[in-house]
Amino acid sequence: MKFITRWISGILGGVLLSQGYLGSVSLAQGTLLAAHRPDEATNRAIIECPEAPTVDIMFLYTPTVGRKYKEDGVGQKIQQAAFEMNSALKDSGVCGRVESVLIREADNFSVLDNRVFEDYVEVRNYFNSQYVQDLRNGSSADLVSLLYEGNGGWADRPDPDIGNPQATSEQAYSVLGMEWLGLAGGEDVLSHEVGHNLGASHDWETDPVRNEKYPYNKGYIASSRKWRDIMAYNTNCNPDCPKVRGYSNPRLKYNGESMGEEGGEKPADLARLFNETIPIVAQYRNPGQQVTSSERQAYWNSGVNRRGDIIEVE
Ligand SMILES: [Zn+2]
Repeated sequence: MKFITRWISGILGGVLLSQGYLGSVSLAQGTLLAAHRPDEATNRAIIECPEAPTVDIMFLYTPTVGRKYKEDGVGQKIQQAAFEMNSALKDSGVCGRVESVLIREADNFSVLDNRVFEDYVEVRNYFNSQYVQDLRNGSSADLVSLLYEGNGGWADRPDPDIGNPQATSEQAYSVLGMEWLGLAGGEDVLSHEVGHNLGASHDWETDPVRNEKYPYNKGYIASSRKWRDIMAYNTNCNPDCPKVRGYSNPRLKYNGESMGEEGGEKPADLARLFNETIPIVAQYRNPGQQVTSSERQAYWNSGVNRRGDIIEVE
């Protein structure tokens, strides 16, 4: 069965909820409501996005990255990475997006680029320094990413039950290797690490610990073992399974296979999780402000996407 995800902004959202939708998320007051419903004529899944909260990200880069890429080069990679993540969110049935609000070289950052994993504590201390906090508050950045020369990355993985939006000093950070930034087809490191910032875990085989409140916060490996989602590891794929540009969602299919697991012992539904957490993360640093600028509205109205307004998931 082929599903096509179509994104519509605006007025129809509330009305369609009364019809038989396939799933709904985030019913708490003040958070986003996304509805999935089948289009009987075409057998497509249509997803309504009455609101599209934006997660603002501030990017700092090391002096080594600055020398190698210059600011224009860094900006280009960030733009590509944001495009990849926003496309993945859209393709997966998530109402929400990321946006870069500040890009600049990291002053007084003394950790070597090849030590960002080993010197984890120093990197964290840097994130929590007055310098970074002032920049974060000044630019209303919900999240902060540090770009270094290398591959891979790490990120905070908050419990999705995030609590006080202002108390986010342990929940808002990621470190991203430039070599993997902006890679297409689900390989982009921003899509994975910021996925953690939004509460995502890896697949069940990699991360067997169950989150009791949000047991569906898992990435997904296809039952055929032919592909995996952005958050899943290569675990037990034989010999390898490529990432597709999407997050787990049992209401969608890829190549005829379900993209997630609804309920059961091992649920995987990151689309549901993100529709619950993005409205919270989007208010880490700009409480009450969602989709305000004309630019953000335009994004949803025009459905900026490589393949246009209608997105095929197969
Ligand atoms: Zn990870």
